[in-house]
Amino acid sequence: MQSAPPKGGAFSVSIRIFAHMEQVFNLTTDKKLKAIAEKVIATERINNEEGLMLYQADLAFVGALANYIREEKHDSNTYFNRNFHIEPTNICVFDCKFCSYSRLLKQKDGQWELTADQMFDIVKSYDGQPVTEVHIVGGVHPKMGLQFFADILKRIKKHRPDLHIKAFTAVELEYMFRKAKLSFADGLKLLKEHGLDSLPGGGAEIFDESIRNQIAEDKCTSEQWLEIHETAHQLGIPSNATMLYGHLENYEHRINHMHRLRDVQDRTNGFNTFIPLKFRNKDNQMSHIAEVSVIEDLKNYAVSRIYLDNFSHIKAYWPMIGRTTTQLSLSFGVDDIDGTIDDSTKIYTMAGSEEQIPKLTTQQLVELIKNVKRTPIERDTLYNIVKNYMDYDFASEKTTLA
Ligand code: SF4
Repeated sequence: MQSAPPKGGAFSVSIRIFAHMEQVFNLTTDKKLKAIAEKVIATERINNEEGLMLYQADLAFVGALANYIREEKHDSNTYFNRNFHIEPTNICVFDCKFCSYSRLLKQKDGQWELTADQMFDIVKSYDGQPVTEVHIVGGVHPKMGLQFFADILKRIKKHRPDLHIKAFTAVELEYMFRKAKLSFADGLKLLKEHGLDSLPGGGAEIFDESIRNQIAEDKCTSEQWLEIHETAHQLGIPSNATMLYGHLENYEHRINHMHRLRDVQDRTNGFNTFIPLKFRNKDNQMSHIAEVSVIEDLKNYAVSRIYLDNFSHIKAYWPMIGRTTTQLSLSFGVDDIDGTIDDSTKIYTMAGSEEQIPKLTTQQLVELIKNVKRTPIERDTLYNIVKNYMDYDFASEKTTLA
């Protein structure tokens, strides 16, 4: 991975750190919070109790501290990629209470199910376009098994070897492997041989078992989710991690969730990014629960950035939280805003996300980032830099890139 450019010699670094310390310290009179800030600035890890204190602290304080880390790690760089989604089906054997997207096999209304040819046609529709990633996730269909998906991966890879295939949540994988009677390691090896490059981070929800059992009782357990990701990392398959927040959980559950991820990351360093996902309450079995405020969203990004010291990136899904909150999040620890997702994804829109037609051209995405004085960097899935758009002249292009 290419990291942010160095920002000067030791003297200028000391001045910058001192200026940041002063700025952060001026935002609180609480001695314990000041002590946490000192630890963070000394690059020491904070513990769970300190993580909890940050959730109780003032937004301005946690935001400034998170922004300090974000700029130390990435300067003003803000990453995005050019990707597209394939959602094979929304039929699902599970019945998560927060899910607005899935349909049980018996619920005929609103179902879809793509054939292998239809999925391949989606890939072919991007021929000649400079996308670097296909993201494949969907419901857990009882008849779409391991071999079905392995064949699709192989077909995609043969057609377009340069395309990074990020596919299947641990929930989908656990079901596939169980049905195929394969261990996690053997199942992942088989998919890797057929073209799987990395795993998305979905299905993590919240690891605390008492909450997980209330919102997603029948799908893979927290331990299985973590084991699948750790096994993938051991096999050279990087992955991502999410956390669904803003429903029944409390701050302790969120810290517990991140603690378990931080432990795996210490052992493997296989997670690319952490993606907090806001619970949305449209058309699901938890619609009676109010959504949390934008203040809570920003605080959650900030605490995540501070707590997860061994994660390089914190991502905000712009379609989920909308363009304005995304711009704000870039000063609260976020350094990645995903990609130029086209409207092929229904996961966000069906849950009531801010963006009902989630599509931005590269130029629009670049302007969104530059408007808040950050540097737009196109990356590939593994955060290798594809292009720095800071001084890029779109007018020189004959056509606007999708
Ligand atoms: S969240 Fe995923 S596993 Fe749960 S019901 Fe929806 S599609 Fe199925």
